[in-house]
Amino acid sequence: MPPEACRTRFAPSPTGLLHLGHAFSALTAQARAAAAGGVMLLRIEDIDTPRCKPEFEAAIFEDLRWLGLEWPEPVLRQSERLQHYRAALDRLIAQELCYPCRCTRRDIRAAQAAPHGPAPAYPGTCRGRSMAEAGPQDAIRLDMARAIEVAGPGLGFVETGPERAGWHALDAAALCGGLGDVVLARRDIGTSYHVAVVADDAAQGITEVVRGMDLFDQTPLHRLLQALLGLPAPVWHHHRLIRDADGRRLAKRDDARAIRRYRAEGWTPERLRARLGLMSPAP
Ligand code: GLU
Repeated sequence: MPPEACRTRFAPSPTGLLHLGHAFSALTAQARAAAAGGVMLLRIEDIDTPRCKPEFEAAIFEDLRWLGLEWPEPVLRQSERLQHYRAALDRLIAQELCYPCRCTRRDIRAAQAAPHGPAPAYPGTCRGRSMAEAGPQDAIRLDMARAIEVAGPGLGFVETGPERAGWHALDAAALCGGLGDVVLARRDIGTSYHVAVVADDAAQGITEVVRGMDLFDQTPLHRLLQALLGLPAPVWHHHRLIRDADGRRLAKRDDARAIRRYRAEGWTPERLRARLGLMSPAP
């Protein structure tokens, strides 16, 4: 396959049954790849170990096949790639962009409640600590301001989704004030979604990241990490979110909207596509 061929991915976490929102995401990733003569790949995001279950993974494969989806390359399982995430983290540590953090959620809430204006996501309590003193009780955080400085000016990303299409320059103030010093390695699993997603999108050669609008605000961080890690930049396509009849976002616990449920009620994949406002692919 030529290196420029379109490669999209669907990256569910096996922490529950796939619902209508997942179906929309997977079908969109598939349709965008097919329209460009490319492929959609599958990745199982199972690093959040306590909540991931093999039966949910099996259900994902089954529901996707029922929807008519195929993935021509082996499934990438995050739980098998921890050494790659460690290598990426080590690279960021070597650039002196990280520090250990022993704050609990409670500590952070207490610091945020202190009366000094709008609270950043993380108040910076541990920012002065050195990686030399990192221990098993510590999470590892990114020093966001330093990371932006080291990555240099001119960074941004291309969005192809319907709601925010165009070029989005990284906004240092928004990143520092919004996401702030994010956790790159949780103390329980030694990594994070952010590190894993950029490492895996590069490993799978993803050229267009298709996912929900709920992740749009994380994308500047992912672009920043790619730049710091010397990884290629894909384009992003954030699609609209599927909501229930009351306009609420669907959640995994929302079994009423599980694909399983529709299957059990006798729906066909075509009817489900129509419910999602998607055309069936040409036969
Ligand atoms: N694993 C994430 C989810 O199930 C998707 C992350 C992504 O597409 O980047 O919501």
